[in-house]
Amino acid sequence: MDLSHQDIKFLPGVGPKKADLLAKELNIHSTEDLLHHYPYKYVDRSRFYYLHEISEEMPFIQVKGQIIRFEKVGEGHKQRLSAIFTDGQETIELVWFKGVKWVLEKYKTGITYVVFGKPSPFNGHFNLVHPEIELESQLPPPEQMGLQPYYNTTEKMKTNFLNSKAIQKIIYPLVKTIKSGIPETLPAYMLKKFALLNLTESLSNVHFPKNADLLNKARQRLKFEELFYIQLSILQQTKWRDQHFKGFIFNKIGYFFNTFFNQNLTFELTNAQKRVIREIRIDVGSGRQMNRLLQGDVGSGKTLVALMSMLMAVDNGFQACIMAPTEILATQHYASITQLLVNLELKVGLLTGSTKRKAREEIHEQLRNGKMDLLIGTHALIEDTVQFKNLGLVVIDEQHRFGVEQRSKLWKKNQNPPHILVMTATPIPRTLAMTLYGDLSISVIDELPPGRKPIQTFHYYQNKRQGLNQFITKQVDSGRQVYIVYPLIQESEKIDLQNLETGFEYIRDAFPHYKVSMVHGKMKAADKDFQMQKFIAGETQIMVATTVIEVGVNVPNASVMIIESAQRFGLSQLHQLRGRVGRGAEQSYCILLTDFKLGTESRKRMEIMVRTNDGFEISEADLKLRGPGDMDGTQQSGLPFDLKIANLAQDGKMLEIARRAAAEILDDDPQLEKLENKVMSVQLSRMKTNTLNWSVIS
Ligand code: ADP
Ligand code: MG
Repeated sequence: MDLSHQDIKFLPGVGPKKADLLAKELNIHSTEDLLHHYPYKYVDRSRFYYLHEISEEMPFIQVKGQIIRFEKVGEGHKQRLSAIFTDGQETIELVWFKGVKWVLEKYKTGITYVVFGKPSPFNGHFNLVHPEIELESQLPPPEQMGLQPYYNTTEKMKTNFLNSKAIQKIIYPLVKTIKSGIPETLPAYMLKKFALLNLTESLSNVHFPKNADLLNKARQRLKFEELFYIQLSILQQTKWRDQHFKGFIFNKIGYFFNTFFNQNLTFELTNAQKRVIREIRIDVGSGRQMNRLLQGDVGSGKTLVALMSMLMAVDNGFQACIMAPTEILATQHYASITQLLVNLELKVGLLTGSTKRKAREEIHEQLRNGKMDLLIGTHALIEDTVQFKNLGLVVIDEQHRFGVEQRSKLWKKNQNPPHILVMTATPIPRTLAMTLYGDLSISVIDELPPGRKPIQTFHYYQNKRQGLNQFITKQVDSGRQVYIVYPLIQESEKIDLQNLETGFEYIRDAFPHYKVSMVHGKMKAADKDFQMQKFIAGETQIMVATTVIEVGVNVPNASVMIIESAQRFGLSQLHQLRGRVGRGAEQSYCILLTDFKLGTESRKRMEIMVRTNDGFEISEADLKLRGPGDMDGTQQSGLPFDLKIANLAQDGKMLEIARRAAAEILDDDPQLEKLENKVMSVQLSRMKTNTLNWSVIS
């Protein structure tokens, strides 16, 4: 019996209409999908409580008794229905704000009901608001009810009578039928080695736990399996890739690298930079194609590492390119790289969306005939018209800004794929990196160049603006520059832009003696660039901008970052913005401005920002606060697999165990051909047909 082919339409209580809803709303198509739609919480209904036992900490309470009387309170749309309910000894008030007519028709006094709900304190006693009410005769005895599962549904499902309860009723008989045994998806030796519950028991207990202990074991098993197969899949494809693609061999460190290192480099590399360059050097000399992720906090000097890697390519007769997510950043890379390479006879090009046709054609030509050594650019790089003579290394800066597809296009720019170095300043927690970039080797720059003073961060409410203006004056008068950033989110772009423009006017009025630049995403590239260049050159002192300046921009003289409506930014974004200052020798400051009224989560974000400058700590905190699906920088690429039960913020240890187990198995049996591993290759191929096509390229 293959449950993945069993249409849910024919299950009791489903039918075509509900099947359609389940498919559209929750992507549930087969019996198997249903079985893997796990409850998100459980509620203890294993006994009846007495009303005198109620306390505020109880999430839910189940009481048996009768309604004594109904009472309508209030008028019009403020009207509510109250029912006095007794367990035979004490009474409690049941309350409805909606559906009064329906309740009055359905429930009667003097009949024994089981009432279930969340006790909420009100005027010194407890209420149950919108409780669930059932006839005792319709419920299984409490000892059989046990821990009741609660399932995620959507508003649309609820209005179509597909609430959690309805799903429970659909799954209940299903779990009964699988009790006769469904095919195990992990080999027996693994169940034994990791002391895991078998699949049948796990599915049965995850939906209808016999007790808390079995529920726990069931969840452990299902989490392990989920993480294990993701890792197995990633590692198997990585192995396949490594075997299929031979890497170009850069076996010499030559003229350009050495001259740059000995003559052009004016400062000492940090130890972390040296270590990473060594790691890259080993990769590109190994004969395997490099696929490396370089993580390093803002300002840690990743560009330099990228440049020196590109010089390795050039020394070995190859071309190299670097792709940045914005025009501002590409232009800046071009400026700093050409400056760093001064006196070295290398041909470096800049290609962006606004490169003029003639210049563009010349670049194309020089790339094809090999006259151009290094190319710096934006998305414009991946267009088909851009063809290299011999591309050996591709660097992708701020890679989380690009999708898998864009990255894979660069891969194909040479017959043999070039080495790939992707860089990110959005530190990714280890567990997330292992899943998102599980097929990449990882290098970390965990050290900032010496002499930087840690940025001081403050959280102010809007009413501190006067004091803030004085602070800005002081900074600018001592020669510094200031950023003021406004949020810009898609949904209300117009209002945001208004805010930005009003902010700009306000700043110009408040600081009539200073020159103010403004940059936002809706401006023409040339205008943006013009304003940016003025700020970089120090001709303007204050830069009012949206997050277009978030990524990579480097103005060492800027020492103050003011973030307006900071509560509207995610943690990683705040950290990125803060990273725009603290790049010079001066003490730098980051000011987070918010309304006085703040949600708990926003308040936490502000606290974390004030407390630490450590990007990794911030990304861990972000993961815990928001969950992996919502993390900044990962929405675009998204998790390649949909995690149904494992949680990357909590199950890090298990993830490591699962990854190690997968690696060991593949070392021993790369094709999963051994009899005892057969079940895994079957499971993997099922996963591949069931999920989106997971490309070999990350
Ligand atoms: P990021 O990692 O954020 O991309 P950058 O590569 O832009 O950082 O480097 C930030 C600044 O630090 C640049 O001005 C760069 O020249 C400088 N820098 C890089 N490495 C060193 C070093 N080892 N010592 C001193 N300054 C450095
Ligand atoms: Mg950078």
